[in-house]
Amino acid sequence: MVCKGHGDVRRPWGFQRVTDDSVTVEAEVVALRQAVLNKLMYEVGGRDERASPRDWFLAATLAVRDRIVDRWRASNDEAAAQGHKQVCYLSMEFLIGRLLSDALGNLGLTDTMRQALDGLGVELEETFAQEPDAALGNGGLGRLAACFMESMASIGVPAIGYGIRYEHGLFRQLIQDGRQREVPEDWLSLGNPWEFERAGIGYDIGFGGYVTADGDARMVWHPGETVRAIAYDTPVVGWRGQWVNTLRLWSARATDPLHLDAFNSGDHVGAQANRVRAEAISRVLYPGDESAAGQELRLRQEYFFASASLHDLIRRHLRLHGDILTLAEKTSVQLNDTHPAIGVAELMRLLVDVHGLDWEQAWEISRATFSYTNHTLMPEALESWPVPLMERLLPRNMQIIYLINARHLEAARAHGATDTQLSAISLIDEQHGRRVRMGHLAFAGSHKINGVSALHTGLMKTTVFAELDRALPGRICNKTNGITFRRWLMRANPALTRLIVDTIGPRVLDDAERLADLAPHARDAAFQQAFARQRRTAKEHLAKVVRERIGVTLNPDALFDVQIKRIHEYKRQLLNILHTVALYNAMRARPMAPWAPQVKIFAGKAAPSYHQAKLIIRLANDVSRVINSDPTVRGLLQVAFLPNYNVTLAESIIPAADLSEQISTAGLEASGTGNMKFALNGAITIGTLDGANVEISERVGLENIFIFGLKAHQAGPMRRDGFDARAVVEASPDLGAVLDAISNGVFSPEEPDRYRGLVEGLLAHDHFLVTADFDSYVAAQRQVMGRWARPVEWWRSAVLNTANVAWFSSDRTIREYADEVWDLPVR
Ligand SMILES: *Cc1c(COP(=O)(O)O)cnc(C)c1O
Repeated sequence: MVCKGHGDVRRPWGFQRVTDDSVTVEAEVVALRQAVLNKLMYEVGGRDERASPRDWFLAATLAVRDRIVDRWRASNDEAAAQGHKQVCYLSMEFLIGRLLSDALGNLGLTDTMRQALDGLGVELEETFAQEPDAALGNGGLGRLAACFMESMASIGVPAIGYGIRYEHGLFRQLIQDGRQREVPEDWLSLGNPWEFERAGIGYDIGFGGYVTADGDARMVWHPGETVRAIAYDTPVVGWRGQWVNTLRLWSARATDPLHLDAFNSGDHVGAQANRVRAEAISRVLYPGDESAAGQELRLRQEYFFASASLHDLIRRHLRLHGDILTLAEKTSVQLNDTHPAIGVAELMRLLVDVHGLDWEQAWEISRATFSYTNHTLMPEALESWPVPLMERLLPRNMQIIYLINARHLEAARAHGATDTQLSAISLIDEQHGRRVRMGHLAFAGSHKINGVSALHTGLMKTTVFAELDRALPGRICNKTNGITFRRWLMRANPALTRLIVDTIGPRVLDDAERLADLAPHARDAAFQQAFARQRRTAKEHLAKVVRERIGVTLNPDALFDVQIKRIHEYKRQLLNILHTVALYNAMRARPMAPWAPQVKIFAGKAAPSYHQAKLIIRLANDVSRVINSDPTVRGLLQVAFLPNYNVTLAESIIPAADLSEQISTAGLEASGTGNMKFALNGAITIGTLDGANVEISERVGLENIFIFGLKAHQAGPMRRDGFDARAVVEASPDLGAVLDAISNGVFSPEEPDRYRGLVEGLLAHDHFLVTADFDSYVAAQRQVMGRWARPVEWWRSAVLNTANVAWFSSDRTIREYADEVWDLPVR
């Protein structure tokens, strides 16, 4: 199906110019330039002599969008005509970033657009920079959804991504006096040229009310409130522009009319109260990462988008195929974590109450349709909702959850499950004041449940889902995450891409596995030097960005040691900061020793209510201020905390990284995808055997990665049983000195006690094993510097990272899902 050869592709990609066809190329440039001018004139409404960079961005994007729309329609027509099965990817988050360079790159129009704009006196890179970074997600989970959308389009898997069109995505992070401040992100304020509002595609989503039985004992839900879900579509164009899928995001619109009487009599607020409440659903993204929000608005968001998406995919199915009984043959619904898991109960409601199927039939279809991806095992991140809230907000769905649970428990009992086992697999947690376990609901309602790395999937089977796996065996499988190489190598790092293509040929652009052909060049001195030169250029570029953003001038000859990701205790930025201070102490103690210069780079946002994470940000900034202004270590050690980490910033940092920090407490990072981006770009990882680091180490080889610390099977029991952190610190004088300095205010002289509580907390209950792993981490950092001092070895390892991580392409991940979860034929 779907996957056609590339023989008919005429358009050159990016920097690969077609030289024997210059007339065609010139004609394309002229045509695109005219298209941009037309958009500027008739849609943006500006004159070219007065157009702002923002106007040019809008005009260029609209012109590119036109090129995509024809292919979009062709893809939809082909999928319909061939009766292809469609994947519906339900995700509360899509961390998209900018799209213009991505779309141009995939269409092979980057150079054409560059020349078209050149002729108008407009610079392509500046035009790219006008685009807001669409941050409709918190971190890895949302970025995975975005990478998957790109890969599904690139492979030609017919897919629709469903989510929420948040008016405000993830907050913008400011650092003021070393502390995080959150301000709202206004990504839509100047319009979004990518999206199409589908005013004609809308569904009324109910909340509250009551349930009655009609004459045939069919249940009828009478919602007390309805909110309209309106579709906004963005085309997702795949590699070489051969296939285009849809990202459909729902916006909430009030159905309650404006109460004119009240308004006219002066009650302007009361007259609109219901409308404001309804439209709050798509107002803001919850800014928590790896934690369950637990608030009513969050549950309203989840049901709103799950229900709208199910209404929509059923309508499409009936339009194309006519028969609700074949739904599972034509549609796969992937639940990206439990956020859309209420969809399990909602699909049953639609099939039974609305479409009149009997329960067993509906359940079979539903289970064959759904599959569920688990992203975390941490208790605070596992979603559960209080039964009373569910009963009030979604009374019919709650009844259905009870019916599912009754059958689920009955079947297990019939197979001899004990009471303890039954309470472990029940969809209702009776221990914490009766709550619905959304992970259990998703598990029971899916035919496949996947973890996101080999280690994580193994742990799923022995921890959260151990009893469910026993009761419903054979459903758990692993699908190790991946990243799209188009964005994270070709676009983020065009210079390295050019070097790779020049070395092993352009086939690698279509077949990531060809990266392995780089391996023989890893020992080649000239190639190593070219690789190192490219890195050096990227570091100079990043140094410029850093200087502009925070006024720190980085030494591009230094080793760039980078940790960028959400700030979370389990990710252990604190461990990295402690090492930074240890290094600082050592350099001050022996300033004449032959230190190699080092730069520590941090970036990441903390959830606004996560006090400990915010304190860690403050500590990083305090440490940075003291170290950067200490003349003893000038030129040897620098620390930079870059504000407002997002996809765009990641794209400029990653190509400049020498060392990739992936140092989570073993057993707690489900996969990680940042680790893959760095390795692909030739950074060497320092990391624990956690998440996908395990699989990265297997592929790059233990001699090309710095592994340290406790293993998951050791860390788990230590976390559970506790350990004596004070004894660990006593035994490690360097660590003791670091903690004393932080605790005594060396980095916060204006408030010496600022970090006393943090240090005392660490000594009292070091839940994330920071002290326990410290010595091992420092030893690994010493090995890093040893390797760095031997450039031939360093660059050989770096090249072998790039050469050996092709498997982490999200194209591979998607092929595995298609094959083993969605039952879709792919090439
Ligand atoms: C890749 C990515 C992440 C995930 O990073 P991890 O290191 O896997 O936690 C988070 N945010 C952004 C912007 C990303 O690009």
